[in-house]
Amino acid sequence: MPQDPQQHLRMQVRRFWQQRQAEYGTIMVQEAFHHTLSDFGVEVEHNVFSCPDCWWEDREVIYCPWSWNHHDHPFHECPGMGQDCC
Ligand SMILES: [Zn+2]
Ligand SMILES: [Zn+2]
Repeated sequence: MPQDPQQHLRMQVRRFWQQRQAEYGTIMVQEAFHHTLSDFGVEVEHNVFSCPDCWWEDREVIYCPWSWNHHDHPFHECPGMGQDCC
C-alpha cells in the first residue's frame, strides 16, 4: 500500500481520465463523468457562491479544491474568461 491512499487514488483517476481524454476528447469524458457522478449523488456542479471555501478577489474567483476550476482538481478545467492557469 502506498503511504497516502488519497494520492494513490488521485493518480489512478488522473491516469484513467487522461487515457479516456485522449480517446474521446475532453468534452465527452467530462460529460460522462458528470452523468456518472450525479448518478451516485455526487456534487458535480460546484457552486462557488454558496461555497464557504471559494472566495472572490477583485473580479476573479479563487476556487477551492472541490471545484473543477481549481488547479489541483483531478479533472481540472481552466475557468476561461482570461483565467487560463495551465
Ligand atoms: Zn468551493
Ligand atoms: Zn488550468
